[in-house]
Amino acid sequence: MEKLPNCIKCGSEFTYEDGNMFICPECGHEWMEEEFEKSEKGLVIRDAHGNLLKDGDSVTVIKDLKVKGESSAIKIGTKVKDIRLITPVDGHDIEARIKGFGDMRLKSKFVKKAT
Ligand SMILES: [Zn+2]
Repeated sequence: MEKLPNCIKCGSEFTYEDGNMFICPECGHEWMEEEFEKSEKGLVIRDAHGNLLKDGDSVTVIKDLKVKGESSAIKIGTKVKDIRLITPVDGHDIEARIKGFGDMRLKSKFVKKAT
């Protein structure tokens, strides 16, 4: 028998399936099958050229990026090491420490994978 996924909200094992929805009887959370597949596969984030990015990659910024509250921008060509992929927030789907700026969130469309 195929095992149903645990509730993505509370972790309950007693989820049941209704059409393409999963329902958790414990917390009442309902979600779509696709949502589960996405979280199972992890984040699929690509750079400006369509290359898949993963945690720990190095990328290069391809556009000057204004930083809120900072007078200087992150300059085009800035190399960013050891990125972390995050669930997108306002289109920002990468987190990394950038020299001179600290921990920043970036948009994958404004970077390219460094080789
Ligand atoms: Zn639940």
